Amino acid sequence: MRTVRVETCPLANQEHQHSHRQYAHVFHYDRLVCVAKAFWDLPERIRLAILLHEVGHILAGEPAGEKAANNAIERASGIDIQYRDSEWGENLEWIRPDDVVAAKEYLGIVDVGLRTHPGYQPDASAPAEC
Ligand SMILES: [Zn+2]
Ligand SMILES: [Zn+2]
Repeated sequence: MRTVRVETCPLANQEHQHSHRQYAHVFHYDRLVCVAKAFWDLPERIRLAILLHEVGHILAGEPAGEKAANNAIERASGIDIQYRDSEWGENLEWIRPDDVVAAKEYLGIVDVGLRTHPGYQPDASAPAEC
């Protein structure tokens, strides 16, 4: 199973301040999704949708656009990425409630909020991907 590493990044914080629906980016560090601090305040389902979309960017490769990223993740995970307006941003990634379990399984994350726990230490011995 693929395991996605997610870390808060100062550049992502800057981007979020500049554009409030911008919460994450990839290709900054290898196999890492960088997120703004505000990402952790999003509802879990939106966090999962954003992470899936960002993994789609990794799968599609750097020059690919938004649609190519979603096509890549939809093919790989079988989960449909949708867009909804909400208080957290216009046209933000969204997945159906029925897809939450599959999204967690695909991403290899039991609790996307894990890293907000002050005692959490990434497990250095775990393979980044297998
Ligand atoms: Zn970054
Ligand atoms: Zn994107």
